[in-house]
Amino acid sequence: MQRRRFDEPGRYPYAAGKHTLHRSACQQVERSVGHVEGDNSIWMHGALTRLAHDNTTSSGWATHMRMMDHDEATAWVKGRIGPRGGARYRLCRICTPHLP
Ligand SMILES: [Zn+2]
Repeated sequence: MQRRRFDEPGRYPYAAGKHTLHRSACQQVERSVGHVEGDNSIWMHGALTRLAHDNTTSSGWATHMRMMDHDEATAWVKGRIGPRGGARYRLCRICTPHLP
């Protein structure tokens, strides 16, 4: 599902790592989601099947990055603001996303 979202940056303009907010077009996100050159549909099917079956982190992208639409990104940011208003997240310095 995250991979499908990655293909729709218009609908899901944000991506979040563990503590960092990105734009979905960020090169870091692309690397994490797993950019493979050429026609990789067969490879991708294999990865998706593996993920669906054992839910491991071996292929990485599904667990490290989350594609988010505007509302989800807003909630993500809200959930990372401490009781005193301190932000417990970072904005990526490469893609410099705007706060949702
Ligand atoms: Zn970024």
